[in-house]
Amino acid sequence: ALPSESSATAVLIPFVGFFIALHCKAVGFVMMAHTRTQLQLQHIANEDILTGLPNRRSVMQSLQQAHSKALRQGSSLAVLLMDIDHFKRVNDQCGHPSGDRVLSAMGQILRQQLRPLRIAGRYGGEEFIVVCPQTSAEEALQLAYRMCDAARTELRATHERGSWPVTISVGISNLSTVNAVKDDGGHTLLQQADQALYKAKYAGRDQARVFDAVTDDVDIAESGLAAIHFPEGVVFPNSNAAL
Ligand code: GH3
Ligand code: MG
Ligand code: MG
Repeated sequence: ALPSESSATAVLIPFVGFFIALHCKAVGFVMMAHTRTQLQLQHIANEDILTGLPNRRSVMQSLQQAHSKALRQGSSLAVLLMDIDHFKRVNDQCGHPSGDRVLSAMGQILRQQLRPLRIAGRYGGEEFIVVCPQTSAEEALQLAYRMCDAARTELRATHERGSWPVTISVGISNLSTVNAVKDDGGHTLLQQADQALYKAKYAGRDQARVFDAVTDDVDIAESGLAAIHFPEGVVFPNSNAAL
């Protein structure tokens, strides 16, 4: 009986080996497909479809991370909040699809013009945010000028009877202007950028304003943006700084 047993084992071993290898391959394939699907889902969950930029959820996460890192390292951090001027008019006079094209072109400008360290996202509607680690207020202002210039030259609202340039306004905040910095995920920075943006709009649009801790430090939570007092401040002219 011994010789036949050993010959049966000899026949079985390659089969078992083959099935184990097949099983491993199948498991590997399933795991790979699962990982790929997860990455795709993650991408869909984080991307704004219209502009191809990170969506609000994703860019807020980036702000939170950049803010914590800046606090840990004691480095600077700037936030730019951008809003397309009179966008409602674009929709009303040119139609919603034309408005969508302007938003998509704005996404392209942001993708093309920003250094990899800087993260741009669609904050919502016609508002965009740029998180700029290791960036001073002055550098952020120069960047904002460039974005205003790029928008003015590249964005156009078009309908059958003609077209006109579309502009943006930008509000800027920087960690250096935040009194009593706390790990609030960048919330204060965002509020201050919003306040500066509001002032850029109020001052005539198509321009950038840096939040000024001395003249602009009102308690937004208590007063609300609509109640903000507008002191005489510096209005930064649009520059033609090279990109
Ligand atoms: P301001 O200069 O003060 O910012 O004025 P505005 O007209 O840009 O601002 P307002 O808030 O009055 O209008 C924003 C418009 O943006 C209203 C809304 O219908 C439009 N909008 C928001 N999301 C989208 C979108 O995904 N596509 C299009 N086409 N329009 C959008
Ligand atoms: Mg808006
Ligand atoms: Mg607007």
